[in-house]
This record gives sequence, C-alpha cells and structure tokens, in this order.
Amino acid sequence: MKTEGTFLGGGHEVGRLGILLNSEGSRLLFDYGMTATDPPLYPSPSPPVDLVFLTHSHLDHCGMLPWLTARYDIDIITTGVTSEIAALLIEDSIKIGKAEGYPQPYDSRDAKIAYRRFDEIMFGDTVNAGRVQVKAHSAGHIPGATMYELQDDRTTLITGDLHTLDSRLVLGAKPVKCDYLIMESTYSGRNHPPRLKTEYSLLKKIEEVTDRGGTAIIPSFAVGRTQELILLLKDSKYEFWLDGMGKSVNRIYLRHPESVRSIKKLRQAINKTREVRNVHARARAAKGDVVLTTSGMLDGGPVLNYVNTVRDDPKSAILLTGYQVEGSNGRKLLETGMMDFQGVSEKVECEVLKFDFSAHAGHDELLAFAKGCEPEKIVLMHGDEREILAGDLRSEGYEVLLPRNGEKFSL
Ligand SMILES: [Zn+2]
Repeated sequence: MKTEGTFLGGGHEVGRLGILLNSEGSRLLFDYGMTATDPPLYPSPSPPVDLVFLTHSHLDHCGMLPWLTARYDIDIITTGVTSEIAALLIEDSIKIGKAEGYPQPYDSRDAKIAYRRFDEIMFGDTVNAGRVQVKAHSAGHIPGATMYELQDDRTTLITGDLHTLDSRLVLGAKPVKCDYLIMESTYSGRNHPPRLKTEYSLLKKIEEVTDRGGTAIIPSFAVGRTQELILLLKDSKYEFWLDGMGKSVNRIYLRHPESVRSIKKLRQAINKTREVRNVHARARAAKGDVVLTTSGMLDGGPVLNYVNTVRDDPKSAILLTGYQVEGSNGRKLLETGMMDFQGVSEKVECEVLKFDFSAHAGHDELLAFAKGCEPEKIVLMHGDEREILAGDLRSEGYEVLLPRNGEKFSL
C-alpha cells in the first residue's frame, strides 16, 4: 500500500488540523478544525474526499466540519460522545464568531447538516474505507478521543491528540504496533510535572485560600478538565460550584458511560457539584469555597463575572488549570497581572497561579509511545517545536518526517 499525505493545517503548528491521506485510491480526511484565536485561523480548503474521521471534539480538530459537509456528500466517522460534544462546541463557536464580527465560513444551517453526517464508531471497531480498513483505538486525551489505524498490507496509526498517562477521567492510550506512525507533538521538548503532585498542590492552595476566608476561582475547560477537577474535589471538604458549559458536558458524559474511566465516580462527583442555574446561585457561588467555570483562558463566559468579584480581594485567588495560549486573557494575566474586562485592561490584585493539568503526553511520554508502536517511519504533526522530539527519535534510529502545511509526504 502506498499512502500520500498532506496537511491542510496543523502540520508545523498546534491547531486547525486537517490530514489528507490518499491510500489505495481512497481519499480520507482526518480531522478538519479551526484555531479559535482572534481572528480565527482556518485550514486550506479541502478537496472532495470519500470519508472523514474525527479524532475528538476540540475545535481545532472539528471546527470546520460544517464547511465540508455543506460542499460534499460525506459521512464523518467518530465516537458517539465526540459527535455530541463537537455539536455543542461548534454551536458555541458560531455564537462567539457572530459576536466578534468576523466573516464566518459557515452558518448554523450548515452545522446542522454536519451533525446528521456523524456515524458512530466504538473503540475496537473497524470500518471499511474503500480497500482500506480503519480501526478505532482510545487516545486517552479526553473521553471519546480516538486514534485511527489504517489497515492494509501495511498499517498506519494516526494519534490525534494523545495522552498516555491515566487521569481520573480517562485511561491513558496504549501503543499500537504499526508500520507508519503519524503522531502529535504539542509537547515536544517539554515534560509535565507528575499529576499527583499537581493535584496535591492545587488542593493545598485551595486550603490556604479558604482558610484565609477567600474564594478560589478555577477557570477550566468545559470538556474534560472540568470533570477531572470535580473528580478530584469530590472527596474534599470544600463546597464547589460549577458554572458555564461544563454543566452540559457533564450531562453528555453521563449519557456515554463507556467513554469515561468510572461512570460511578463521575456520577458521585456530579451529584456533589453545586450547579449555578440562576443569578442568585451565582451570587452565592461567588462567596463559596471553590468555583469552576469557563472559559478556561478567561476570554469570555461566566468566569469574567467571578473574576470581577474577587479581583480586588487579596484573600481570594484565580487558579488557572490549563495551557494559556499566546494572546489569551489568561496569558496576559499571568504575564502582566492585568486583564481585559469588556475591552478595558484592568489590574487584578488577588493571587494568580497556574497548575499544569495537561491532557497531552509530554516529551518523554511521546518518545516512549512512539517506541512502543515500533514503526518504520514517523510523521510528527501538531507541534511548533517538532525538531526536538524528531532529534531524539532519529538518535534512536527512526526515520522522521516533518512536513509543513501543504507539503506532500509519502508513506
Ligand atoms: Zn484536543
């Protein structure tokens, strides 16, 4: 089998992924996302394809699917939980796009067409894509996140976003023996601190904040991070509130028990969570011990109300729990102690800290995963510093390709 590939986006960068593969006459597209920056970034226009595979629901992987299904008569293979969360995130991005006033690549009517084209696959299942078979494996990144294995006389594994360590919410991905490996490399050159240590320091900090009479505001991504954090908080003594999109995501996860590590524990955690459903509850939550809310990078959503309430209170704290992308309000707060409230930059006096709860494999984990797959050739993607990991892999004897967006590669 000969496979030709091109990145429509997300090759030499993190975000807007689109991997076009032509294998045995089948034209396959893996992910088609957008980078939700200001202004948003889109991948190159996709030519017609036979079938689309979606690895997971983050917008940089699914955000351009409605553009595709508005033009071509094609199905999108993905897990059930991914299809529901993708719909939720796409709807939200249409709303944000309208508010920001950028020209939109599609409208909500196009999006509805996309949702009807989702075709469910489960881990371990195989689908036919022309002469090629494609098998789904768990990628460990967030619930439902999938790696796809193309099977012919040779096999190719596409990881999507990858996490190999177990978290409270999902079990880590296991290597799959393959001839060719197309692997994400977001954390090339960087490692994460051990998760247990990060969890311990977050709990320690919450204790300190509540002991001094303050409130801990925890901005967290609605998809995955929020649920991991309520699983951590469920056995603590703190009263924790949840506001924003995480509430809808909780309900979707409960409908897909197969997608999480322990539905029993997640249900217990959700039952202990106080949901903010109206303004009165919002006022009570702002005086509580802990508030988990979106957006995770402080770029909008209910988190701004909470931050506004605590920002002059030195007893309270803002505890960031995810990567803060360049240009985000969260990054600005970390670097300058200032952040934007409705377009006005203002000083934040309360304590601000960041905790590394990444859902991506770190450098050493990526290296170990690649070795475990025993491939003959590796394509690194979805990274802006791929060379560091490529160097380590090459010194172990692997052939490594680093195609940039638009550059053809052969497997
Ligand atoms: Zn992701």
